[in-house]
Formats: sequence, structure tokens, C-alpha cells
Amino acid sequence: MENIQNVLASLPEVIADRFGQGKPAGYIPALSQVDPEKFGMAISTVDGDDFVIGDADEFFSIQSISKVFNLSLAMHYAGEDLFKRVGVEPSGNAFNSLSQLEYENGIPRNPFINAGALVVTDALLEFVKSPKRDFLDFVRGLSNNIDVHYDEEVFRSEYDNGQRNAALANYLKSFGNLDNHISRVLDFYFYQCSVSMSCRDLARAFRFLAQDGKHPYKDEQVVSKLQARRINSLMMTCGTYDEAGEFAFKVGLPCKIGVGGGIVAIIPGEMSICVWSPELGAKGNSIVGMEALKYFAQKAGRSIF
Ligand code: GLU
Repeated sequence: MENIQNVLASLPEVIADRFGQGKPAGYIPALSQVDPEKFGMAISTVDGDDFVIGDADEFFSIQSISKVFNLSLAMHYAGEDLFKRVGVEPSGNAFNSLSQLEYENGIPRNPFINAGALVVTDALLEFVKSPKRDFLDFVRGLSNNIDVHYDEEVFRSEYDNGQRNAALANYLKSFGNLDNHISRVLDFYFYQCSVSMSCRDLARAFRFLAQDGKHPYKDEQVVSKLQARRINSLMMTCGTYDEAGEFAFKVGLPCKIGVGGGIVAIIPGEMSICVWSPELGAKGNSIVGMEALKYFAQKAGRSIF
């Protein structure tokens, strides 16, 4: 592969004309205040090397990237049983859509749409004693950074504008697919979405998915090898919501996005990548981030296909 740092260094020129085509997420007011011109990217290789460019050390709201941490923990504890309550099919619908739940009897299509993440959150509550503390400790451990924290302002903003998530939770409960009280599930879900960390932290944290589930900093498995493979396949087919086909076509790597403008991508056996740029396209994905990943994957000659 061409030297990673050289590929990164050529990125600013490649993405320059992509700025100004989207907007930071408006429906969570705290996210709309972020400088839209921000751009950072970090790569963490399975050999333990980091490569960074731009605002790679600036903290941002990870939003739905947290759904991968949520799912990994729940799979670790609950194993296969989890998939009795949540499917593994791409939804082809918006991330916060209610419509499929009705004719699929309250079983969300996959763990990465909001409905699915709420079910996974509910399942996880059964296994963790202090949910918020345990979740944050898990993410801090994976990124090897004690400064990773949750952002109270984003959390409040999610709460104040979380009517659609509340509707989803109520709907799931009506089908009997939430065990815990709705408010408890929403509180924990909003907390996960409000975690704040940098591209460098996320690239490091996601390395377990590039190395068969092995913890990046401890001598232990985060998830089994098979589970890591399955999480990657879910990221590939469902991690970018109703733009999954476009991502497969242009980037060709398992990815997970968050409406904070972050995207995490995995090159199995080699590295994990995190890119951040807050301007989103119509489907909630970072426009500049997607362009940067497309360029990087092509330049590096990497694709899982
Ligand atoms: N907290 C956001 C929500 O629940 C997450 C959405 C996302 O990042 O895709 O609406």
C-alpha cells in the first residue's frame, strides 16, 4: 500500500470542494452548533500504529457510532438470543422510521436503526449493574483514553427533542419487545449517543473489529471471532442506514455512521479508520467523510469485495 501518511496528506485537496453541500444535524440542537468546516481522520493499524490528519484529536458527539459498542456488549453477554428480538436485514428506510415495525410485529429490521438499538439497549440492561458507568468504562478501555466522557448538553438536547425515539420505544413496548420501563431504556440510549471522543479514540477503539474481536489494549476478547465477523457484516449492510448500497458501491468497507458527522470503517485484518466532518447529506451521513473514505479505500486499493 502507498504510505498511509502520504495518502492522508493528499486528502485535504481531494475533499476541498465537498464542503458546503450539507448541514450539521439540525434536529438535535446541540449538534447544529458545531463548526461545519471541521475535518479529521485517524487510522489505527493492528500493529498498533496511529496515523492522523486535521482535527483528529478533537472530541465530537459519536451518536449512532455508539450502537456498535452497544451491540458488541449485548452480543458478548446475550449471545445468539439477542437475534430473537432484532433482525439482521438492511431496512432501506430512514434510521428513525416507525413504519416497518407495524407489519414486522415489533421486531426491528437490524440493531443499527434506532428501533433496533433501543431493543439492544433494553437487552443490555439485564446484564450491567451500573449501565452508564459500565458503558463508559467499556469505551474508555477500548480507546485507552480516560478522558472519553459523555456530553451533558447533547444528552439534554437529545432528551428534549427525543419524541421520535420515545414513539419508537412506546411502539416496541406495545409489541412486548422491551422488558424495561421506556424511560430507563431511553435514558441509557441517549447517554450512549452523547458520548464524546475523538477520531483517534474511535479508530483505536474499533480496532477489535479489525483483529477478530481481540481487545486493542488488553489480553482478552471483546467479542468472539465469529461475533466480530458478524458485527462487520452488519456494519456493511446496515451501518449507513438507507445509504448502505451507496457506501458498499463507493467505499466497499464495513462502516458505521453517526449524525455527529463521524464514520468508522474497518479493513479486516489491517486497520480501523475514523473520519469526522459534521456536514450531513439527506440520509444523515457525513458528505465529506464519505468522500474521504472513498478516496482512501481506492488509493489504498482496499475493499472487502
Ligand atoms: N441520537 C440520534 C438519534 O437517536 C442518533 C442518530 C444517528 O446518529 O444516526 O436520533
